[in-house]
Amino acid sequence: MKDIICKLLVIGAGPGGYVCAIRAGQLGVDTVVVEAKKPGGTCLNVGCIPSKALIHAADEFERIARAASNGSPLGISVGKPEFALSKTMQWKDGIVGRLNNGVAELLKKARVKIVLGQACLRDGKTAEVETEIGLQVIRAEQVVIATGSDPVELPFLPFGGKVISSTGALALTEVPRDLVVVGAGYIGLELGTAFAKLGAHVTVVEAESRILPQYDSELTRPVATRLRELGVEVLTEAKVKGLASTDGALAIEAVGGETTTLAADRILVTVGRRPVTEGWGLDAVDLDMEGRFIRVDDKCRTSMRGVYAIGDVTGEPMLAHRAMAQGEMVAEIVAGEKRAWDKVCIPAICFTDPEIVSAGLSLEEVRASGTEIKTGYFPFRASGRAMTMADESGFVRVVARADNHLLLGIQGVGSGIAELSAAFSLALEMRARLEDIAGTIHAHPTRSESFLEAALGALSHSIHI
Ligand code: FAD
Ligand code: NAD
Repeated sequence: MKDIICKLLVIGAGPGGYVCAIRAGQLGVDTVVVEAKKPGGTCLNVGCIPSKALIHAADEFERIARAASNGSPLGISVGKPEFALSKTMQWKDGIVGRLNNGVAELLKKARVKIVLGQACLRDGKTAEVETEIGLQVIRAEQVVIATGSDPVELPFLPFGGKVISSTGALALTEVPRDLVVVGAGYIGLELGTAFAKLGAHVTVVEAESRILPQYDSELTRPVATRLRELGVEVLTEAKVKGLASTDGALAIEAVGGETTTLAADRILVTVGRRPVTEGWGLDAVDLDMEGRFIRVDDKCRTSMRGVYAIGDVTGEPMLAHRAMAQGEMVAEIVAGEKRAWDKVCIPAICFTDPEIVSAGLSLEEVRASGTEIKTGYFPFRASGRAMTMADESGFVRVVARADNHLLLGIQGVGSGIAELSAAFSLALEMRARLEDIAGTIHAHPTRSESFLEAALGALSHSIHI
């Protein structure tokens, strides 16, 4: 097969790689992207998109089931609903398929060549790809490594049989009766909550002393309350030992050192993700590493000239929108533009019930920095819109410098609050002060008014509380 010669080679077509390739193509850079599985990467195929589809289906079902069993305060009566996970999965697969094709079309529209197969670097400018029709050599002036991440496997609880990763959970066609989730982080709680709503008896085993240890306890309290309402058992400070030899139950060491077993049809292990640093020729390029991740600078340059790395393979936070922003930046750098990473915030959302959003610095980070601050807080129980939606749990909190009122961080928890993340991020990115938020008319009645009210609260003149 004839070698392909191009200016830019992108390895991996996840959100980092495909966005980088599209932007480079738009800027007239002759670009090739190589993908071993399907365009869209983890996010589109086995991550963000399918998980949010399942979460939405579970929310809808649980709301109807609750109305059927307890009656609804809204005056709605319904019969007992039925649920077929296999149909939900077909619907989810349809969405994934549409988006796969969409990404491929967008790449084509940007005149990017897609090569399907596993890429392996021979050196910093040449890759070999095992394609269906033979070995393809690609020579490029510059290379972007966007190989993403994989689920962490526990050595004493390897994936297989009843032990599944998030990918396995998103392919189930029957709701497990007893589901044990190991790890109360993002994936464990997002998917654990969804399966609990679909009728599984869910037990979550977490090594730390509380759920979602990456968020402060004020933010996670409404989530813990909801898990209790859903009958999810949460065992904190618990250590997983492995499968019990007799009945295949999960052996754990509970707080206090007592060993016990948990019955499980499925064991979902969600204890983090690790960068994919194997299978693409890291040895051939010998890049500097930062722990398990590839070390990059503020332009996503690695230690080898002309080789960039973006997305999950470069470290935390392992989020799709960070990967996309890095991809766009690198494409523009390759096209000759002056760019460097200058983002004020990478918002984080946990799609639990209720949802959690954190943009900018967390309260702990600000406190640790010693900066004098003003905080404002508005609970959804005082929001007219939350009342009309019969869902009043949660709050919005703003954290600003005490001297000039510059916003440093905005956090919140509440139903549908994910959609407020754009307003929070924009405010931080535009270096808004409390007065900018207080001086902006927020439409009534919306949950977004809680952002306005939190800013007013920090300025000591709340109106609605
Ligand atoms: P990936 O998406 O992992 O893509 C890497 C691609 O590279 C893959 O397609 C892989 O096949 C390919 N590849 C690897 N090696 C080679 C090779 N040698 N040759 C060719 N191709 C190769 N993030 C959010 O922001 N919001 C969410 O709601 C969210 N939900 C998630 C839910 C789940 C269940 C999971 C697992 C993750 C979720 N994430 C979420 C995280 C998000 O999916 C990742 O941060 C994001 O996909 C990282 O993008 P990436 O481009 O770095 O890597
Ligand atoms: P995570 O880091 O969010 O949570 C892992 C949890 O497992 C932690 O609470 C940790 O204390 C616990 N843990 C670790 N080892 C354990 C053990 N042996 N026994 C019991 N508990 C243990 O990891 P995740 O949920 O696997 O998600 C991976 C990454 O994917 C996230 O960090 C995030 O970057 C991304 N993600 C993001 C979203 C989102 O943006 N909404 C959703 C899903 C995944």
